[in-house]
Amino acid sequence: MKKYLRIILEILLAIVLVAVAAFAYTNYMGKKHISDDLTQNSEELDQTKEALDKAQEELDSTKEKILALTKDQRQLDALKAAFANGVVLSDVDALYKKEKSLSADRQVGLGAIRMLTNGVNDPNTVAAFQKTLELAEWNTRLQTVCAAQNALVAAGQKVSVLADCSRDGIPVKGDAAAEKPAKEVSESDFKWGYDGDTGPEHWGENFPICAKGKKQAPLNIIGPFEKSKETLTADYKEGALKIVNTGHTIQINPEPGSTLMVNKDAYELVDVHFHRPSEEEIDGKNSAMVIHLVHKNKKGKLAVLGVLVNEGKENPAIKLLWTNLPKDKKEGEEYAPPKVVFNPATLLPADMGHFTYEGSLTTPPCTEGVMNYIFKTPIELSKGQINKFPFKVNARPVQDFNGRKISATQ
Ligand SMILES: [Zn+2]
Repeated sequence: MKKYLRIILEILLAIVLVAVAAFAYTNYMGKKHISDDLTQNSEELDQTKEALDKAQEELDSTKEKILALTKDQRQLDALKAAFANGVVLSDVDALYKKEKSLSADRQVGLGAIRMLTNGVNDPNTVAAFQKTLELAEWNTRLQTVCAAQNALVAAGQKVSVLADCSRDGIPVKGDAAAEKPAKEVSESDFKWGYDGDTGPEHWGENFPICAKGKKQAPLNIIGPFEKSKETLTADYKEGALKIVNTGHTIQINPEPGSTLMVNKDAYELVDVHFHRPSEEEIDGKNSAMVIHLVHKNKKGKLAVLGVLVNEGKENPAIKLLWTNLPKDKKEGEEYAPPKVVFNPATLLPADMGHFTYEGSLTTPPCTEGVMNYIFKTPIELSKGQINKFPFKVNARPVQDFNGRKISATQ
């Protein structure tokens, strides 16, 4: 009996040992788990603290910005108050009343003062900006155009804003591109061209004057002619060559200081560009190309000289230009080849005899009030030179006369 008892006791002892070992093991594992959890929790806490610090920093910098903005707002309010009594506007109005016509820049200034005085819904404010758009010449006055467009949009007017006019890629308020569904071509993105859906017959859909204007250019130059009363004298300066592919033509941006006298009125040369074939027709026939020299006087009025180009012998002036075409530049990016100088006078014919009519820009927005002077004497380019011009066709077709007469020198 004693023997059995001993065996039973031994078995019991074994069971208790196993139980103790199992308890100890479970206990150990459990603690380890808790410790792991604690480590993880503390890491998360650190991260949260970091995030909190960052948020505090951002809050501080935002506070600073708000303070600065409030200061700006106060200054703006003070400025608005100064304009609100209308004294500034009446002074400017009185000053400008003496002028026969205002330049685009002055129209923008006047519009801005009207806006500050009478608010955005004043019809005269809108009219002042509209006038700017009519006066502004597209290529050289983008800033003015943008200012007027943005102001009109701010005034709640339905105006298409050029993609180039949105600042830092932020769409301008009311920008068609930001509000219209993506697949619709927005007005501001309208890329005009010379054929298909963006060709001249479609320009009017986005630039109304192109379709509705009554003094559009070019014209088919055909007699009988009235006698031209205008004498032209060009005084062009040599300067560093600046050449750009605008995507519509090759354009030379001349050094300031080249002038054209139309009788006693001085115009400054602002751009020289090319069309192929010529836009103007003589007795229903185009020339191989035409060179347009665009000038502007102090009041913002434009005068364009047209030099017709026939196929013939090689032209050294064009050779210089074509050798320096902006091949590696993006569209619209000016290229100034080092040490290359150019004088636009080298493109003019010797004889300044001309045909003249009142027309428009021949590219959107087709602004009217442009005096066109087409030289009777063409210049020559070799066949190779004509073919080297990067645009095969970039000419607007001839437009209706609408009762206009062409004048000519004798
Ligand atoms: Zn042109």
